Amino acid sequence: MRVCCLAVILAVHIALGTASAQQPFIVGPVTAAPGTAASGTIQIPPRPGDEGTSLPISVIHGTRSGPVLALVAGVHGQEYTPILALQKLRAAIDPRTLTGTVIMVHVANLPSYLARTIYYSPADDKNLNRVFPGKADGTLSERIAEVITREVIERATHVVDLHCGDGNESLRPYLYWITTGAPQVAEAGRQMALAFGMDHIVVDRERPVDAKASIYLSNTAITRGKPALTIESGGMAEIDTDSILRIERGVAGLLKHLKMRTDGPDPIANPVLLERSAVLRSSFTGIFLAAVEKGQTVAQGAVIGRVTDFHGQLLEEIKAPFAGEILYVVGTPAMNKGEPVGFIGSTVR
Ligand SMILES: [Zn+2]
Repeated sequence: MRVCCLAVILAVHIALGTASAQQPFIVGPVTAAPGTAASGTIQIPPRPGDEGTSLPISVIHGTRSGPVLALVAGVHGQEYTPILALQKLRAAIDPRTLTGTVIMVHVANLPSYLARTIYYSPADDKNLNRVFPGKADGTLSERIAEVITREVIERATHVVDLHCGDGNESLRPYLYWITTGAPQVAEAGRQMALAFGMDHIVVDRERPVDAKASIYLSNTAITRGKPALTIESGGMAEIDTDSILRIERGVAGLLKHLKMRTDGPDPIANPVLLERSAVLRSSFTGIFLAAVEKGQTVAQGAVIGRVTDFHGQLLEEIKAPFAGEILYVVGTPAMNKGEPVGFIGSTVR
C-alpha cells in the first residue's frame, strides 16, 4: 500500500515537472532556451550541379509550452513585404511573455532572392512552391523544400506561408483558406484565416490531398494534419508600409487566437468569401499589357489584357471567364506561354 502511494506521488511529480519546465527548442543549429529568442542559419550543402544554399531562421521560445507557429517568408525571391514584416516581428514578439514557440524562416529561397528572380530559382528553374515536400537528394529547390518540411513544418502545430504578388504581380491583399484537409484541420484553418484579419478570403477547394505530393508549402502542413494558411500582401517588388503592417497585424491576430499572447486584434467579422477563383494564363510568348487594375470589378467577358508579338501584332485578348474582382494582374510586359496574366475571384460559386 505504502509503496504504491509513493509510486503514484512520484509519477504525479514527474508529470507536473515535464509540463511546467519548458525544454529548449532546437531547430537545426539554433537552440532557444525558454523565454529567449535565437537566430542562425541551416546550411544546405552543395551537390553536383549547384553550390548549395542556406536558410536564415529564428526561434522565439516562450516560457510556457503551447502551439508552435511557423512563419515562412521569401519562398519567392522578389516577395519582399513578408521578409520585412518578419524582421519587425522578430523584434516585436517577446519570448518572456509568449506561450508556445514561433519558428521563422526569414528568406526561404535565398538563391532566387539574391539573383532577384521571379517564380523560378536560378539554380534549377523550379518554382519552390511547386516541389513540396521536397527531396533530400534532389535539385536545390527540392532540397530547400525537404529541409523546410523536416525542420519547420514537421516541428510546427500551425503554419503560415507569407507571400505577396511576385516582382511582376500587381496584387490586392487576400489569403487562401484551404478546405481539402481533414474536417477539423479545415475548420482550424478557417479560424486562422479569420484571425489573420484580411478582408478577402479565397476558398481553395483544389489542393492535392497526398502528403507525398503536397506540392505547396502550406498544403504540406495540411496533408500532415496541421492547419495552415497562405497569405498575400504586397507586390511588384515594392516595400510599402501598409502591406508590411497588414502582415504584422495578421500575425498578432493569430498569436491572440492561438492563445500564445493575451492581447491582439480581433478576428475579422464579415470578410468577402471568394467561393470561385481562376488563374488566367497567356497562350503566347510575347508582350503583355494589362487592361485592368488590381481590385477592379469586371463583367464576364471583359478584356483583362492583351498579348502582342514583339512587333506589336495582337496575338490574344484574355477575357474574364466570369464576373468578379481582379485579385492580381501582371504589371510588367514580359510574358511566356502558359504563365499567369492575372487572378480573378467571385463571391458566387
Ligand atoms: Zn509567392
